Amino acid sequence: MLERSGIGISSGIVMAKAYVFRHSEIYISHEMAEDRDAALALFEAAYRKTHSDIDAIEASGEDEKALLAVYKAMLEDPDYLLLIRSNIKERGYNAAWAVEAATDKYVSLLERVNDDFFKERIADLRDISERLMISISSDSRREVSVPYPAVLAADYLLPSEIISMDLSNVLGLCLDKGGVTSHAAILARSLGIPSVFALGDLSFHVTDDDVIAMDGKAGTVSVNPDRRTRSSYRKRMDNELRSEAELKADAGLPAITKDGFQVSLMGNIEGMEGIAAAIKAGADGIGLFRTEFLMMQPEYADEEKRNAIYRETVERMSPYGPVTFRTYDIGGDKVPKEMKIEEENPILGWRAVRLCMEMKDLFRDQLVSILKASASCHGTRLMFPMVSGSEELRSVIAFLDEVKDECRGKGIAFDEDIKIGTMIEIPSAAITSDVIARYVDFMSIGTNDLIQYTIAVDRGNEKISYLYRPLHPAVLRLLAHVAESAHKNGIPVSMCGEMAGYPDYLPILIGLGIDELSMAPSSIMEVRRRIRTLSRSSCASFANHVLSLPDAQEIENALKEFNSTYGKA
Ligand code: PEP
Ligand code: MG
Repeated sequence: MLERSGIGISSGIVMAKAYVFRHSEIYISHEMAEDRDAALALFEAAYRKTHSDIDAIEASGEDEKALLAVYKAMLEDPDYLLLIRSNIKERGYNAAWAVEAATDKYVSLLERVNDDFFKERIADLRDISERLMISISSDSRREVSVPYPAVLAADYLLPSEIISMDLSNVLGLCLDKGGVTSHAAILARSLGIPSVFALGDLSFHVTDDDVIAMDGKAGTVSVNPDRRTRSSYRKRMDNELRSEAELKADAGLPAITKDGFQVSLMGNIEGMEGIAAAIKAGADGIGLFRTEFLMMQPEYADEEKRNAIYRETVERMSPYGPVTFRTYDIGGDKVPKEMKIEEENPILGWRAVRLCMEMKDLFRDQLVSILKASASCHGTRLMFPMVSGSEELRSVIAFLDEVKDECRGKGIAFDEDIKIGTMIEIPSAAITSDVIARYVDFMSIGTNDLIQYTIAVDRGNEKISYLYRPLHPAVLRLLAHVAESAHKNGIPVSMCGEMAGYPDYLPILIGLGIDELSMAPSSIMEVRRRIRTLSRSSCASFANHVLSLPDAQEIENALKEFNSTYGKA
């Protein structure tokens, strides 16, 4: 039995067979090349890269010169290259397979030669071919697919992989990497997949024959659990079922504090799948629709399809509350496969409105779809991501005004009163929120990015997750300032970052006067229950008190004490 603990990402207890997937392994598909010319071009590029890698090693030192000369001779061997190329051109193999097949043939020839020198060359040839295959397979990404019901143990998963894979067999997710607010984590929570991340090198210690028991809330994983551990996980499952049933009993009740302060509880969704979960949890609407994830689904490119998705979302939610469409937050770690954006520093780079204001056709098409959907339900909201200040906001709003005019000119109906908001997720926007608030109907705090940029800590990097502190005084001061700016300007303030979905933070968030909390639908019931045990006035004095504390540790201690004194049930 192997036990590990990581970061609990999405709650749920699972015990099931494992399925292992690692990007770091060379994957050789034995499917025919779809396009022989493209496969040949892929091989030639890999060949050039491998050649220049060896040149670079050679240039960097004397020691390995003789060995590298042998490597180069093998790499340049005309018969070997001819065989690889004809495997592609004549036989139709894909690039990696063509290298593998040519190498296997050469290895079997070398094995037959009765000469030690040639026999020793086998390892060299394998090394060269591996370099070629790694270079090829890093360009032709392998699809993740889980062939039987299992806990998927992987090194990491990209958001685009989660979005495009068939999840029907994924009972749980154990990843070696990933932080608590990485987009992979957000998707796992939103899709309700029990998940534990930051498990070190766990995926290297698991095989498909193993059984994994995992607790997505506690962040614990046990590979091939013994009898005692199995029975402890079974007990946890029973407890979880019991508390779920209790929470469901509160689903129809308002999220109101004991002294009458009502908070709107909204759902965060990434696609249509989230709507049913939000409705079931009793959401008062959708506070954040991360529309960029739709772009990772091939059918979305079709305009009619996009219009239908947006319209259906507002129509299905209309009995419960408004839908907040956030315009595309493409960039960073959310890049659709076909959009090759390569930047030194993507998180600080060409993202969201920065990108949309340059790709105006793409932006216009989306704005028109949102405007059209607003005609189906009064109160629909449109929100801009990654706005850095009032100038940028005004230019984006000016573009929206142009698009509205175009719609009027074409007789396209939309809600003239559509609510316009902005995310506050960059420190410069938070600091100037008193100015920003003059131009919008609402502001929504994206704590995932706001924390990342305020503390300069990559939200997806588990190595530095100890620095990712939502209760850092700098973060809390920004939250307080944004709430005050909103209220002074007579507009509501919402929070749609992951912080909104953690019941333990509620005394501070309610105390600061956040009007609306938007979260993964799976968190709504627990948050509602906690709100009903709190009093707004004691939360306000508590929030005031923590704002005077010097560091995250003291604030965390104070909050722990508050939560244990003002019980949770
Ligand atoms: C945020 O940054 O808090 C947010 C809600 O947006 P995303 O997580 O999609 O970056
Ligand atoms: Mg964000």
